[in-house]
Parts: sequence; C-alpha cells; structure tokens
Amino acid sequence: FNYKILETAQLIINSKKTFVLTGAGMSTESGIPDFRSDTGYYQKMDPVNALSKDVLLSNPKRFYSEGYKILEDLNDKKPNEGHLALAELEEMKYISGIITQNIDNLHTKAGSKNVYEVHGETRRVHCMKCGSSFEFKVMQDKVNSGQIPPKCDKCSGILRPNVVMFGDMMPEDFQLAVRELESTELLIVIGSSLTVAPVNYLPQYVEKLIIINNTPTPEDNNAEVIFREQAGTVLQNILKEVKRLNDL
Ligand code: NAD
Ligand code: ZN
Repeated sequence: FNYKILETAQLIINSKKTFVLTGAGMSTESGIPDFRSDTGYYQKMDPVNALSKDVLLSNPKRFYSEGYKILEDLNDKKPNEGHLALAELEEMKYISGIITQNIDNLHTKAGSKNVYEVHGETRRVHCMKCGSSFEFKVMQDKVNSGQIPPKCDKCSGILRPNVVMFGDMMPEDFQLAVRELESTELLIVIGSSLTVAPVNYLPQYVEKLIIINNTPTPEDNNAEVIFREQAGTVLQNILKEVKRLNDL
C-alpha cells in the first residue's frame, strides 16, 4: 500500500481549492522531449536561442528552419494517462484548473477546461504587423512550401506562432493564473524543474505543495509530498485513490 498516494488523495479531497502547475515533464510520456533532461532538446540544440524573439526578428530564416521545427513536431502528439487523470479530477471538481508552461495543447486535447497557457499555444499564429490570427496549419503550409519567412495574406507582414519565446512578454493568462493562486490552498507541480522565471515564483502563492518530478526542484523543502517518479503513473494512482475514498 502506498501511503504517499493516500496522503495526496486526502490533501486533494480536503483542500478548499486545488490547482495544478505543469511543465515539459508532463508531456515526455507523450513523446515530447523536455529541455533539460538527458533526452531533452538541449542535447541536440540550444532551444533558447532557436526559439527567441531576437532570432525571429534578426534571422527569420534560422528561426523557421530550426526553432520552428520544435513546434511543428507537437501537432500530432496525444495526451497521456497523466493528462487524462487531470481532466477527470477537474470534471469531479477536485481540481479547479491547470496552469501550464507547455505549448503542446495536450491538456485541452485531454478535456481539461480551465487551462491557463502561460507560455502560449500552438493552435494559432498571428501577423506581427496587423495582428490578424490564423490557424497554425496556415503558417505551416507556407513554411513547408518554401515561403520563409511566412507572410500574412492580409498585409504581407511576417507570421509568428502564438508561443511565448525568450524575449517576449508574458501573456494575460499569467496574471489571471496568479489571481487564481491567491485563493488556492493546494498546488500540485508536475514535470517542471521550477527554474524558468517567472513561473518558478508561483509556488509561493499557495499554502501547500505537492511535487511530482523525476529530479529535485528548488521547492522540494516546502512540499508536503514529493514523488520522484513518472508523472503519468502517479497521477493515475492518485485518481484511483481519490475515487476510492470518494466512494467510501
Ligand atoms: P524542464 O525541461 O526544465 O523540466 C522538466 C522537468 O520534468 C525535469 O525536471 C525532468 O526531470 C522532469 N520530467 C521529465 N519527464 C518526466 C516524467 N515523465 N515524470 C516526471 N517528471 C519528469 O521544463 P520546464 O521547467 O517545463 O521548462 C522548460 C520550458 O520549455 C517550459 O517553460 C516550456 O514552455 C517549454 N517546453 C515545452 C514543451 C511542451 O510543450 N511539451 C516541451 C519542452 C519545453
Ligand atoms: Zn497582417
């Protein structure tokens, strides 16, 4: 019997408001590499440089042949058992919502409703000149047919993805997420190294933390429970235990 799972399920059931914060580790089990692990993007390129606003503006050819490939690879990925467990816990009203650093759309694909995408998303793109919005595929088709940089059909400005890149401002979702956390009792951090600002400041807004991450994080000392295991399995076990206690 796993006492950490029981303790976590009890914390969730007794919390007046619970939120989830996810990072790249949430999606590695869906086949999307994170940045910093042994199998992460840093092993083959410098994702910070490849996906920066500087490069997009000064060297769009490099951006659309390098950094952009990371984004294109996300489109056909599927939610894993962890994403599905979180969607079910929200449906059961045990969690109020998710704040994610991921741009892979997998929480929404899994059926989660209240999702704050604080690093943007890869469903749509927009024109840097007139602001018009298009589906990601519109830009993808242009890039793949050799139009680099891809141009807006309305004004011929350059199209860019709706993701927050290094050098960009944080979107409105970030302030909305902070608001939510100000009234949150319990935060479950999943698959984040908690080293990327300003998201790494978010745990300080809540009373209680649970951390599910393969490797240590700077907040480990402040957590009620820590799981150094694969997120998908842990989340399925938590869901089962919440259901079991719920049915007692
Ligand atoms: P990170 O790469 O810094 O940290 C990921 C953490 O997850 C690591 O500490 C790793 O040990 C852990 N991890 C990996 N697989 C795991 C698993 N199956 N179970 C439990 N833990 C696991 O990622 P970050 O802190 O999220 O920061 C990198 C930034 O890059 C993010 O802000 C994000 O915007 C972006 N990013 C997004 C995606 C995506 O959308 N899927 C992928 C890569 C990077
Ligand atoms: Zn335009």
